[in-house]
Amino acid sequence: MSKHALITGVTGQDGAYLAKLLLEKGYEVYGLVARRSSDHMYWRLDELGVTGDVRIIDGDLTDQGALIRALQTSQADEVYNLGAQSFVGASWNQPVLTAEVSGVAVTKLLEAIRLFNPKTRFYQASTSEMFGLIQAERQSESTPFYPRSPYGVAKLYGHWITVNYRESFNLHASSGILFNHESPLRGIEFVTRKVTDAVARIKQGKQKELRLGNIDAKRDWGFAGDYVEAMWLMLQQDTPDDYVVATGVTTTVRDMVNIAFAHVGLKAEDHLIIDPAFFRPAEVDVLLGDPTKAKTQLGWTPKTDLETLITMMVDADMRRVSKE
Ligand code: GDP
Repeated sequence: MSKHALITGVTGQDGAYLAKLLLEKGYEVYGLVARRSSDHMYWRLDELGVTGDVRIIDGDLTDQGALIRALQTSQADEVYNLGAQSFVGASWNQPVLTAEVSGVAVTKLLEAIRLFNPKTRFYQASTSEMFGLIQAERQSESTPFYPRSPYGVAKLYGHWITVNYRESFNLHASSGILFNHESPLRGIEFVTRKVTDAVARIKQGKQKELRLGNIDAKRDWGFAGDYVEAMWLMLQQDTPDDYVVATGVTTTVRDMVNIAFAHVGLKAEDHLIIDPAFFRPAEVDVLLGDPTKAKTQLGWTPKTDLETLITMMVDADMRRVSKE
């Protein structure tokens, strides 16, 4: 009998990669999708060639009844909660929505699992944004949190309620504290994809400049395709736990931008404009993860370095832009 998985946020970057991974492993994959307003929202699943293989369940993460029905319909053995309002920048404009979707909804899902089938294994998508104003040079599972955005605060609630349900009700609930992870399927609002898309447009004469905010920020960027394997591994362990998933290398936005422009033979300084509109009310200056626990306990290691990742993204955007 094949295992059943339910993925919230299945139309997002991580949802698409995870759906593909689980399908390859022989899972029956269900995806909770809130709005079926446009076909366009399936573009990531389309690009990975798995749209027809994912069983879509209509329902909103904030709707308790929809979550119970999704568990009933999917008969899920494993639930991956990847649904969120995940863009830090937008979280200042939608703080309450962010709290409801990225925070309180986690409790609704855990409650649904506890009441419907407490044997269901649960993965919570936690985030390095919870470290925010960092309290240690390299952030590990034991580093204190200090979120710096409504998104980070909402995610911290989701993280602790996951820990709490594990400890209170003995649920197999794990939390992956994932550092930034990117891919050609990243949304255009995130800085890596904004850059690789702009580089492709500039190279093909469809755009002249690239406007960015704080390019001194440093991030530990990995490849989303590598990171979804860590999620799956967490749910295959005998005991649930929390894990940092990161590369252990940090790079400035500036250096990431230089890699992208250099890949197509252009110079960043000829096109880059610093625009105050893209600065944030509070910034996370630097993130650097310590993935030792994931390595030793899960046997997980990142396979893709930043240069490989950014050039892969630029190449994908060069192809897309040329077809427009
Ligand atoms: P985050 O780490 O989840 O906020 O991921 P982002 O990709 O949105 O942002 C990464 C970093 O890039 C943050 O420190 C941003 O302030 C910085 N950054 C600089 N310019 C931009 C921009 O134009 N867009 C975005 N999204 N981020 C920018």
